[in-house]
Amino acid sequence: MPESHSRVAIVTGAGRGIGAAVAKRLAADGFAVGLLDLDEAAVRQGAEAIAAEGGKAVGVGLDVSDTEQAEAAVARVAGELGPPTVLINNAGITRDNLLFKMTDQDWDSVIGVHLRGSFVMTRAAQKHMTEQGWGRIVNLSSTSALGNRGQVNYSAAKAGLQGFTKTLAIELGKFGVTANAIAPGFIATDMTAATAERLGVDFEDFKKAAAQEIPVRRVGTPEDIASVASFLVSEGAGFVSGQVIYVAGGPKD
Ligand code: NAP
Repeated sequence: MPESHSRVAIVTGAGRGIGAAVAKRLAADGFAVGLLDLDEAAVRQGAEAIAAEGGKAVGVGLDVSDTEQAEAAVARVAGELGPPTVLINNAGITRDNLLFKMTDQDWDSVIGVHLRGSFVMTRAAQKHMTEQGWGRIVNLSSTSALGNRGQVNYSAAKAGLQGFTKTLAIELGKFGVTANAIAPGFIATDMTAATAERLGVDFEDFKKAAAQEIPVRRVGTPEDIASVASFLVSEGAGFVSGQVIYVAGGPKD
């Protein structure tokens, strides 16, 4: 039986790292994908790569923490690809520092991108989901939500996203919309490479040391996260909602 809802996904922060891998995976799963990022050139390139593989995609530049830009980007994806039924809130930044050295700007920018960004993107996208009676929202949390030295801003944002996710699940469930969070552990991307650089450690050594602390004895890849996102947005995941799934090579929480 053909599905009665559109298969259009939006992935924020899709210019590189986890977001780029999720966008690629959802395109392979048959979704038309709107790739959104601060770096417009990167997402245009990503969309072209998906099109070259026979998929449908559009790359849109935006700052997710800006309400007007978020709403315009969702409208553009809806216009070009169809109404979005999947939203992956993945865009993220770190501005690490110990509490006594952390500036107001470090706090505001991290809360702004992760929490405000996810809020304005979700508010803009949900109407397309509720109208169709089907939707999937996936928010990127982190093991840092459980507390991490030097990340009082980031851990507060990532813990906040868990509460945000659970409330979305409660409010939107009756419209056929699920909301879940993925909380990755150490994933090898530019973000973790930047952490290694800040600590003055070679990235390869940093990954090796991290792997020793992880039960499966390796660090994660963007594709590890993309696999879980693929499941959470699938038809079969319709009874999974309001959950936080730690994808960290071992147990957390
Ligand atoms: P990344 O490699 O740094 O990529 C993040 C992407 O988000 C970049 O393309 C960046 O754009 C984009 N972005 C940042 N601020 C934005 C904004 N205001 N508007 C639109 N796009 C914006 O990071 P990643 O490692 O893939 O992380 C992806 C998500 O997973 C983040 O939410 C992160 O907190 C979370 N996470 C990562 C790890 C890990 O170990 N890597 C662990 C747990 C959770 P630019 O390229 O222009 O900067």
